[in-house]
Amino acid sequence: MSLKIKKWISGLPDYTPGRSIEEIKNKYGLKNVYKLASNENLYGLPEGLAEKICEEIQNIYYYPDAGCSQIREKLGKVHGIPVEKIIIGSGSDQIIEMICDSFIGPGGNAVIADPTFPIYEKSTLKCGGSTTKVPLADFRHDIKGLLAAVDAHTRIMFLTNPHNPAGTNITGEEFKYVLDKLPEDILLVMDEAYYEYVMPDERIDTAEYIAGRDNLMVLRTFSKIFCLAGLRIGYGMGSTEAIRALNKVRLPFNVSSIAQKAALYSLEYQDFAVKTRESIHKQKQIYYNVLEKNGIGFIRSYANFILIKVGSDSSQVTEELLKEGFIIRPGENLGFPGYIRVTVSTDEVSAKFLEVFIRIYKNCNK
Ligand SMILES: *Cc1c(COP(=O)(O)O)cnc(C)c1O
Repeated sequence: MSLKIKKWISGLPDYTPGRSIEEIKNKYGLKNVYKLASNENLYGLPEGLAEKICEEIQNIYYYPDAGCSQIREKLGKVHGIPVEKIIIGSGSDQIIEMICDSFIGPGGNAVIADPTFPIYEKSTLKCGGSTTKVPLADFRHDIKGLLAAVDAHTRIMFLTNPHNPAGTNITGEEFKYVLDKLPEDILLVMDEAYYEYVMPDERIDTAEYIAGRDNLMVLRTFSKIFCLAGLRIGYGMGSTEAIRALNKVRLPFNVSSIAQKAALYSLEYQDFAVKTRESIHKQKQIYYNVLEKNGIGFIRSYANFILIKVGSDSSQVTEELLKEGFIIRPGENLGFPGYIRVTVSTDEVSAKFLEVFIRIYKNCNK
């Protein structure tokens, strides 16, 4: 007899984790393996941060601060918004879940781009809701198409800026247009996991809109430029009403004490963030030059990854790269067959990658 699992849960696809560095080292007998698949900051922790985080270890016999008050206060100062409008999650992934838990029930709908970051759909379906998918237009959000997809069942629109996996941006004008046209009882989620990678003159200061717009929620994370992916901490900024709802579904100790402290300390390393951004920016230009010189297609990226066109099937290129110690994401899994997505990391790794990749690309496209 089968168990009475909710039918919309049974219908979800099984989770398949990515390849790990250890697995690839063992399989191909490699000494060095580079994971360029999840857009972490491969420069590693800024000097001194690890030591500060380690000090916190002696306090772990206590539960963490359930209100995450120190980090919320700090973020409130940084962004100039009151602490009641800020929520902390075990990664911004968890905030996406809390948003869906609070806004989506059976019959509820979320409007999303196609392809997009998979957690929006997963979290929506988990709550018994459905998604309406609007194809990207020339690798960018189709703003008018997304707005046209909103109907009486829509509860949330998820936008990602920069977009993952395409790396493209949403302009200030497009953002204002959505805010203007979207009904005020529908939540607009701006997922800005790569915000810090956008050059300052190309950013939209979405936090500035939080005070005036009750249906806007902005998500940021410490996983990407701030190097804390393994600790799981991200944050959301929204209206007092929305944040209050999210707090009702949030588990009291959802963020570990070490993650809270690490995030707090990491904000002191703004120079490191600036240096990382500038280095990634420079390397992207090197990528573009090398790819162009070799006649290889790519999408210009506002984030720390690049979508590269590899031909009809990316699995062969992906497999060949694995053998040489590079774990990347094949586009087949991302909704972009024929492409791969590569994290831009350190100068050294980028140079190695480009050399190996060009060789493999040429072999695969003879
Ligand atoms: C990486 C990423 C996130 C954040 O993940 P967390 O580690 O859970 O904070 C959110 N959205 C997008 C689009 C991402 O790429």
